[in-house]
Amino acid sequence: MARIGFVGLGNMGGPMARNLVRAGHQVAVFDIVADLVARCVAAGATRAASAADAARDADVVITMLPAGAHVRDAWLGAGGMAAASRESAILVDCSTIDVATAREVAAGCGRPFLDAPVSGGVMGAEAATLTFMVGGPQDAFHCAEPILKQMGRAAIHCGEAGAGQAAKACNNMILAATMIVTCEAFVLAEKLGLSHQALFDVASKSSGQSWSLTTYCPVPGPVPGSPANRDYAPGFAATLMAKDLGLAQQAAAETGAATPMGARALELYRAFIEAGGGATDFSGIIRMLRDGAGRS
Ligand code: NAD
Repeated sequence: MARIGFVGLGNMGGPMARNLVRAGHQVAVFDIVADLVARCVAAGATRAASAADAARDADVVITMLPAGAHVRDAWLGAGGMAAASRESAILVDCSTIDVATAREVAAGCGRPFLDAPVSGGVMGAEAATLTFMVGGPQDAFHCAEPILKQMGRAAIHCGEAGAGQAAKACNNMILAATMIVTCEAFVLAEKLGLSHQALFDVASKSSGQSWSLTTYCPVPGPVPGSPANRDYAPGFAATLMAKDLGLAQQAAAETGAATPMGARALELYRAFIEAGGGATDFSGIIRMLRDGAGRS
């Protein structure tokens, strides 16, 4: 069993840290919100006095923070986690951040560093069914893989530093665009007098098939577990989708990649958030499209 430092105990990090405690590891935890630390301590973790303190004696140190600035600050800045960690420690950031910052932090830490963002959401974090997409040295990945798999069901090594964040940005851009066009298809079907079930039955067995349709269907009925059946309670909130689309657009601008669909998807999610849909599941954008908003 390993000594693990875990910093950032929010919606995702809290259940992930508790799953590591449950797996039998010694987990030292830190968050700036005391109540979140207390929940993990009640589950068997040890309270660290600071982020650096959580990192100090650990074999593996994990962060799960809101955005790139927090990650840079925690590892290289005032948080001092890289300097405090053992030279042999493996450092893992599971936050979703921009590729450039992930590479900068990996280069600045002076220790084996993995960017390992996740997909699977809060339910995946709680059920330990997350998917980790990982960038960084292969040998560090092999050492961290068993621990990642105690918080998830898959860990995929994608390449060198930043490759995990790159995979996450590309995947979620596909997801956003396919969700929007799937919603558009259901709205068009409504106008044409075609039932939701009929469109689902055809498209799910035809070339229009996608995860957005068959696992996360944006209308109630065809897929009973999808957020559409519970008034679009998330799930994956539209604000988080907009964040990820923003990261994809940042990467596209930095590399000169043409991503017109990704850019339009971001515009539509921003409009949905402005209209009050930010806390709604991202599939709830069908309501805005049904109202005719988003026409250009
Ligand atoms: P959250 O806001 O619930 O948790 C972030 C935590 O970091 C908070 O508890 C906050 O207090 C803590 N924190 C901030 N600065 C800190 C510091 N300097 N030191 C210690 N703790 C600090 O966010 P979340 O939903 O858990 O998401 C975390 C990351 O995971 C984000 O990058 C997000 O994009 C990504 N993500 C979230 C989901 C989701 O469904 N929520 C899904 C996939 C990926």
